[in-house]
Amino acid sequence: MKIFAYGIRDDEEPSLRNWKKANPDVEVDHTDQTLTPATAKLAAGSDGIVTLQTTPYDRESLQILNDEGIKNISIRNVGYDNFNFDDLADFDMKLTNVPVYSPNAIAEHAVLMIGRLLRRIPEVDVKFDNGDFTWAPTVGKEYREQTVGVIGTGHIGRVAIQMLQGMGSKVIAYDVFHNEDIEKQGLYVDSLEELYKEADVITLHVPLTSDNAYMIDEKAISQMKDGVYIINCARGELISTDALIAGLDSGKIAGAGLDVLDHENNVFGQKWGSIDNLPDPKIKNLAERINVIMTPHNAFYTETAIRNMIEISFNSNKDLIEGKIPDTLVYSKK
Ligand code: NAD
Repeated sequence: MKIFAYGIRDDEEPSLRNWKKANPDVEVDHTDQTLTPATAKLAAGSDGIVTLQTTPYDRESLQILNDEGIKNISIRNVGYDNFNFDDLADFDMKLTNVPVYSPNAIAEHAVLMIGRLLRRIPEVDVKFDNGDFTWAPTVGKEYREQTVGVIGTGHIGRVAIQMLQGMGSKVIAYDVFHNEDIEKQGLYVDSLEELYKEADVITLHVPLTSDNAYMIDEKAISQMKDGVYIINCARGELISTDALIAGLDSGKIAGAGLDVLDHENNVFGQKWGSIDNLPDPKIKNLAERINVIMTPHNAFYTETAIRNMIEISFNSNKDLIEGKIPDTLVYSKK
């Protein structure tokens, strides 16, 4: 049995080595390149491929894999919207994903962003860099004084709730589907409007769907408390950047923690030398603010998450090759 892996980064190599050691019956080869028509032939002779990329999986690449008799594809991430299922159907290919690799990674990131904003750490860092070792005026706020509104109580939102409760925050939550445990705790509010009205901090943990694009717009922000903090470690398109900038300008929004941004591909993943060189004026506007914490969509990026992404995707691919149906299956014609 042979598996070929695309887009393997240096930080994934140790986990990949461990998986190979635990699965000596599987021959594994890999490249750091993504799957394109130019690289598809590298997988020749393999029974399946493991891959990770944010760009679309084009039909031509899949055609080449199909011509090589490769029908089993396993991605190392959650989202598979960059596959065209009609192509997968035409080539009778099976696809698996990694539905959950570490909710804690993203939840921790969000909770840390809240803490950094509450304790005004970016301002303290600037003072420190300038040799200013005084306390004032960077007085902070405590988690236990905050009502945190968690939007989305799935895998990540629920871990975030536990962490926030551990820090002493009062948590309220909103989700279109109610989780039993969160329901029992009586955390749900009936509407987003209610959550906006009551929360000192709002953190987003919902997927982007056709219904909720730019859900945090001018109207939503106008319903929030004065001095609200907004955290987005979910998807950039959930927030209108124009509305966010206006809210920060007016002081309605006291600060924001953003791991994802609308049009983030304009800037994320590249080294710009300085914020001054960012080509997207709206993102530059946000990045220049001391009360905006920005990270390059790396909330997921922990050793644990990487290990799980490798292990689960390779196990799934091995299962597919052996004719088993892993519970990570997201597409199969039959
Ligand atoms: P999940 O599917 O376990 O939970 C999502 C929850 O959102 C579900 O409970 C669902 O009922 C709810 N929901 C869906 N649409 C909603 C809406 N319109 N309003 C209210 N609730 C709604 O997903 P998860 O694993 O918790 O991940 C949440 C999101 O986090 C993902 O969809 C993804 O966009 C994002 N994410 C970001 C990173 C990162 O590195 N920043 C990594 C992984 C996931």
